[in-house]
Amino acid sequence: MTERVRVTVAGTVQGVGFRPFVYRLASEIGLTGEVCNRGSIVTVDVEGCGGDLAQFLRRLQSEAPPAARIDDLGVERLRPVGYQDLKIVSSEDGDRVSFGIPADLAICPDCLRDMAEPTSRYYRYPFTSCTQCGPRYTVSKRLPFDRETTVMEDFPLCPECLRDYRDPGSRRFHAQTTACPRCGPVLRWIPGEGGEGEKTGEDALKAAKDVLRSGGVVAVLGIGGFHLAVNALNEQAVRRLRVKKHRPTKPFAVMMSSEAVKVHCVPSAGEWQALTSAVRPIVLLQKRPDSPVAGEVAPGMDRLGVFLPYTGIQVLLMEDADLSALVMTSGNLSGEPLAYEVEDGLRRLAGLAEGFLVHNRPILRPVDDSVLYVDGDVPRVIRRGRGMVPEGFRIGRRDEAAPVVLAVGGDLKNAVAVAAKGKLWLSPHIGDLDSPRAREGFRRQIEWQLETLGVAPDVVAHDLHPGYVSTAEALGNWEKTLGVQHHHAHLAAVITEHRATGPVLGVILDGTGYGEDGGIWGGEMLLGDCRSVLRIGHLEPLRMVVGDQGTREPWRLVVNYFYALDLWDRWADFVVDRLGIPARSLEALIRVLKSRYPGYRSSSAGRLFDVVGALVSRRTEATFEGELPMGLEAQVDPGVKERYNFHITERDGRWMVSPGILDAVCWDLAAGRQDRVATKFHRGFAAAWAEAAFRAATRHGVSTVAVGGGVWQNRWLLRWFVEDLENRGLRVLIPRRWPAGDGGLAAGQAAVALAKLREGGG
Ligand SMILES: [Zn+2]
Ligand SMILES: [Zn+2]
Repeated sequence: MTERVRVTVAGTVQGVGFRPFVYRLASEIGLTGEVCNRGSIVTVDVEGCGGDLAQFLRRLQSEAPPAARIDDLGVERLRPVGYQDLKIVSSEDGDRVSFGIPADLAICPDCLRDMAEPTSRYYRYPFTSCTQCGPRYTVSKRLPFDRETTVMEDFPLCPECLRDYRDPGSRRFHAQTTACPRCGPVLRWIPGEGGEGEKTGEDALKAAKDVLRSGGVVAVLGIGGFHLAVNALNEQAVRRLRVKKHRPTKPFAVMMSSEAVKVHCVPSAGEWQALTSAVRPIVLLQKRPDSPVAGEVAPGMDRLGVFLPYTGIQVLLMEDADLSALVMTSGNLSGEPLAYEVEDGLRRLAGLAEGFLVHNRPILRPVDDSVLYVDGDVPRVIRRGRGMVPEGFRIGRRDEAAPVVLAVGGDLKNAVAVAAKGKLWLSPHIGDLDSPRAREGFRRQIEWQLETLGVAPDVVAHDLHPGYVSTAEALGNWEKTLGVQHHHAHLAAVITEHRATGPVLGVILDGTGYGEDGGIWGGEMLLGDCRSVLRIGHLEPLRMVVGDQGTREPWRLVVNYFYALDLWDRWADFVVDRLGIPARSLEALIRVLKSRYPGYRSSSAGRLFDVVGALVSRRTEATFEGELPMGLEAQVDPGVKERYNFHITERDGRWMVSPGILDAVCWDLAAGRQDRVATKFHRGFAAAWAEAAFRAATRHGVSTVAVGGGVWQNRWLLRWFVEDLENRGLRVLIPRRWPAGDGGLAAGQAAVALAKLREGGG
């Protein structure tokens, strides 16, 4: 007897070959009916006998293409209508509850084989793609994801490509980005200032390789924007790029062929899996001590940010062994957003690159490479970008009536988020909002996200910091706004990501966040949930007179900390001598410290790492946020078992951790034991917070601890803290898919706003 079902599949089902897969499967089993997609949903309306339909439903889930992800599967039984054949019906712009646009996908093994096969018409064609790979998010104009709604609209298919596109048996059946040398985009070489001779195809590729071989910089257009490339083994070339880019020390990422990865690093199985995933993120890997990668690539670090080539252009560019490790850093001047349009790139990167390897497949929106590290087997995201966006996360039951929240994030490492109907979409990394260009990107991202989701915010959540650009944007452009305390947002992000219920004890450690008392917080213990928290512990707040200048000139922080801790008189000579502090600047600072100028109070954990990092490294300046803490982390030797004992005191139900160990740090340094300081500090700090958290959890009867804030990207601190608490029977929640730092802040702001709205009854 013929039966009929309508199957509704929601999730990542567009642009990943899902419709063609469903079609093939149904036709193989011999079903009749229609396959169509509406917005982010694929519906399959098919008829057949009961056993065949059951088989279809089973295989629909077990054999789905690797890039697809099924979130919801609905099955409805209907009266048969007597379908005669099976067909794909064209997309409708349906109910928009999702972007319906998949993330960009790295080139797949099948397409790589096509590119390597001399008899294939895709032989060495860098824009080869199929249903399993190629750009998506960055080439999509509007919903739904089809040829006509992407930039590929401008590349009409040649007869051969059209045949594949229409052939259900082909891997390129309905592959919206497919193209070949006859009908697709073209590779182009544009020489930089003073150079001459534009080239295309293989000649363009050769010109780029020549420049790289001579130690020059090539601007390469990828999926989400430009990279600046130099040979990673050429010390001088890397140094020259640093000077040109105004980026003195911040580590560069290195793109390597898979053979080269094994030469330079020691990836674990989990790291290898992350490296080779379709996201192709930058993965932090332990560098081999004998690796010939230039020291200038990541000065003072023990790890390298490594990724594999993910576009045809990159694969061809590094096919020769001598170019198999290239620095590939974002195409911008330090502090500016990524350049992603050809004309704009030619202008902005003119002084940086000897030439440009570009193409005529437009990029509609910029996206940086994603960055993560693997902790045990668990990938933890540091920066969300290409390959991860615009994917949404289910954060609750699907609820049509749920309020829509826009969260604008913070001013550093900004990303924005929209929550609606039980899902949350965290934008790609936008960057620091201190340039007009970055602010423009921030506004565009918000606009695109709301428009594409087809929603308008009921409330806009922002940080409490009155000086933040993001706060001003929220207050200036929207009527209904809600300020969310920085560290509460960090905690709410972790709670939401893990969908934890009940009160959680948060240990939130970061650089700076505006506190409810107007001070700067950053070493915080919070008890509560998304709705509200109590501040039940923190680092001992110190009077600070040094502001942002301290992060660039950390000796100022050192002096301020010693002064505030009453350690200055004891260690002044030692500190001045160790850091070579200029007498005049020191006098001026001491004068302010001795004055009645109130300054502000800070319980920042990040700044304490800066202080210890400066003392150990004897660095008097830092060129990017987190430089000294990262350098300190790189010096940890887990073989050293000693630790500093941080004092923990309790007063009025609040635990306070004292940074007074700076005294012990100086004793070690003075005695020539500087090689143990980093480890003792990390072990001691982890133990102190574990102890404080354990006492607080016991007192308040909670069994779940959550960590959040950028300081937790420190692998040693995280490992020792978690080990300690798990040994004592507590469960620890750790950020995973959303960055622990401010890149995940907006997700937490949205969660807090939703919880408060729910409490207020709508
Ligand atoms: Zn492919
Ligand atoms: Zn073609």
